[in-house]
Amino acid sequence: MEGQLRKSNVDIRLGTEVTTRLVKEIKPDAVIIATGAIPAIPLSPGVDRPHVHTAIDILDERVSLKGKTAIIGGGLVGMETALFLAENKVSPLVIIEPTDKLGGNIGLRTGWVVRNEVTNHPDIDVRLEATVEEIKEHSIVVQKKGEFEELQTENVIVAVGMLNNNELAEKLKAEGTIEELHLVGDCNVPRTVKEAVEEAAIAARKV
Ligand SMILES: Cc1cc2nc3c(=O)[nH]c(=O)nc-3n(C[C@H](O)[C@H](O)[C@H](O)COP(=O)(O)OP(=O)(O)OC[C@H]3O[C@@H](n4cnc5c(N)ncnc54)[C@H](O)[C@@H]3O)c2cc1C
Repeated sequence: MEGQLRKSNVDIRLGTEVTTRLVKEIKPDAVIIATGAIPAIPLSPGVDRPHVHTAIDILDERVSLKGKTAIIGGGLVGMETALFLAENKVSPLVIIEPTDKLGGNIGLRTGWVVRNEVTNHPDIDVRLEATVEEIKEHSIVVQKKGEFEELQTENVIVAVGMLNNNELAEKLKAEGTIEELHLVGDCNVPRTVKEAVEEAAIAARKV
């Protein structure tokens, strides 16, 4: 895809954040916004501590960790992050998930494979029906059915889902200077590559 894009007439500007100001300078006839999604951050007290990272920071290898690590959220991203850390010798790990099942909303086959790998992993502990009530400097306070437990941990990873990143789209709409504005992919609602590609193809045909 990158090769095809480079062969085309598309002006590619890497390392450039698109702002309303840049859009005004370019003066396009239409704008297709595909700004994706950003990690959701839970409201737990202590979530702004320096040893709290997002799963995306870990998977993109922006931070490297050592020692006991808690992962808040046992969906696909939380499970993949735990397996990635275990592979990279970061352990022990504990996943805290509020529902009664890991990866509850992922497909049957993927869910079964990843869930089995996580639950059978000797370095990954799973706490279901549990929530993180507070993040302290070297521990987290976990609540399960009204019982509180303090778990020692050096790092905390947040994997509680993604939020649509529609800030640029909202600003452009508010300014009202762009007549033709299309939003495609996760900046509408975080989903999968399939929906992003479909919406992009539809928008491109409309322009
Ligand atoms: C950990 C993880 C695993 C996933 N695994 C799968 C999977 O296995 N299969 C699947 O189908 N889907 C998966 N998804 C979902 C999939 O990645 C997304 O649905 C898809 O990438 C959405 O495409 P997009 O183009 O809308 O956004 P993105 O791919 O997120 O791209 C958005 C781009 O916009 C850039 N951007 C944001 N703001 C600006 C700005 N102001 N100016 C310029 N650029 C900007 C960002 O830097 C980014 O490069 C996964 C998501 C995550 C988080």
